Amino acid sequence: MLKPDCIERGLIGKVISRIEDKGYTISDMKMQTLDEAFIQEHYAHLKNRPFFPELSEYMTSGPVIGLIVEGENAIRGMRIITGATRFEDGTAGTIRGDYAYCSTKNVVHASDSPENAEIEINRFFGDRRLPLFR
Ligand code: UDP
Ligand code: MG
Repeated sequence: MLKPDCIERGLIGKVISRIEDKGYTISDMKMQTLDEAFIQEHYAHLKNRPFFPELSEYMTSGPVIGLIVEGENAIRGMRIITGATRFEDGTAGTIRGDYAYCSTKNVVHASDSPENAEIEINRFFGDRRLPLFR
């Protein structure tokens, strides 16, 4: 998912180019503005963290773009090119390491497992997406 700061800062093309450069195919995309209920589900594992209100405000502040990325090792590979969650751990050459300046507004989200990818794609695009996993 391209997060609101990615769209606001005009980084859509740069980030998508990195995904394509890695060798992956983007098989669908959709822009929408998320509401608080969506974020509470998407980030349910973080709802008791002190930064959650700030995270929720940021994630609902403008449109995001959900992408379905396909290819060999796509989930693991997307996590690698995304880079670290914590700003302090950022590595140059990753999307977050090169473009993010803090741990909250960090440009992209990438699913962390096949199970979560399926849940997240269905939440974002609707259940019609299920057959993509084969
Ligand atoms: N986040 C934050 N502060 C933190 C950790 C996470 O604002 O200390 C935000 C950040 O936008 C991150 C999101 O919460 O991408 C989800 O956190 P998670 O631990 O799932 O990291 P990710 O899977 O995105 O690397
Ligand atoms: Mg996560």
